[in-house]
Amino acid sequence: MRSNPTDYSLVAPPTLPEALRLLASDPNLTPIAGGTELMVALAAGRLAQKQLLSINHLRELRFIDVHPETITLGSGTTFTDIRRHEAIAEDLPLLTQAASWTGSIANQNRGTLGGNIVNASPAADTPPALLAYGATLTLISTAGMRTMPYSMFHLSYKKTALAPDELLYSITIPRNWSAYRTYIRKVGTRNAQAISKVAIAAIARIENSTIADIRIGAASLRETPARCTATEQALANQPLNAATLPNLVASARAALATEARPIDDIRSTAKYRAAVAANLIEEFLGHLLV
Ligand SMILES: Cc1cc2nc3c(=O)[nH]c(=O)nc-3n(C[C@H](O)[C@H](O)[C@H](O)COP(=O)(O)OP(=O)(O)OC[C@H]3O[C@@H](n4cnc5c(N)ncnc54)[C@H](O)[C@@H]3O)c2cc1C
Repeated sequence: MRSNPTDYSLVAPPTLPEALRLLASDPNLTPIAGGTELMVALAAGRLAQKQLLSINHLRELRFIDVHPETITLGSGTTFTDIRRHEAIAEDLPLLTQAASWTGSIANQNRGTLGGNIVNASPAADTPPALLAYGATLTLISTAGMRTMPYSMFHLSYKKTALAPDELLYSITIPRNWSAYRTYIRKVGTRNAQAISKVAIAAIARIENSTIADIRIGAASLRETPARCTATEQALANQPLNAATLPNLVASARAALATEARPIDDIRSTAKYRAAVAANLIEEFLGHLLV
């Protein structure tokens, strides 16, 4: 990453309350965490607002708290923190996997979960897993904290529910998924160091050979990361066995076609993304049988 210090200004308040106070008093400030998105945008001349508020060093934002029902991660948790955390690996394997295939090791050491979420790329790696697990976000400002389901955070392309005076404080994820089977796959140009063309993270609970619960999160299938709710509804409460699988696959493909509005960009076409996503759903259903 190139960066010329004369191109931007940066303040680095010592505490979270001070950072929030500065943000409340100056709507022109742009929070910068790991900077792995922002400094690239700056170097490419794409960063309109160059007065930066560093939150990278704030210990208050970098924590992982394990509770009986949930795991809460501070927004400043890096991908490396996630990858190395035993309880996350045990309980939230989709998140560990997503963190481990994000960029390079250098990226993972600096890039944060909060930055991945707030940057709001439809192709980002962690959102499908967060959607499948039903994560909740806590946003913070001088006025206090508010929580919302992560599924409601992305409003449209790169537009989020975050107010200008707010920071993403933490991400809380239910952790008791032992009755669920999990699936995650990222399709990109290469296996490493590639932004996904399409990605799916999914979990399902099978009871008495029936799909009792199913949650599917997707990247690059819409202008924001999104859950595939129509596909989930087509599959929920359906019997699953070798005989029903072909029909299930057909109804999942039909439902996905109604809700997939893939992005079309330099990495791939909408047509390719829709076709591959349907193949991934089929692969997931096949795994549920094993
Ligand atoms: C070489 C390279 C490879 C990459 N590969 C991948 C990849 O494979 N998969 C992938 O998903 N991403 C990838 N990325 C993108 C990037 O690394 C991730 O999106 C990362 O999570 C961004 O986190 P950050 O802390 O660096 O964010 P920053 O660059 O600091 O910030 C990103 C955005 O989030 C905002 N922000 C950050 N934290 C907060 C907060 N707590 N509250 C409010 N706003 C906040 C910033 O204002 C900014 O708008 C790659 C980037 C590079 C340079």
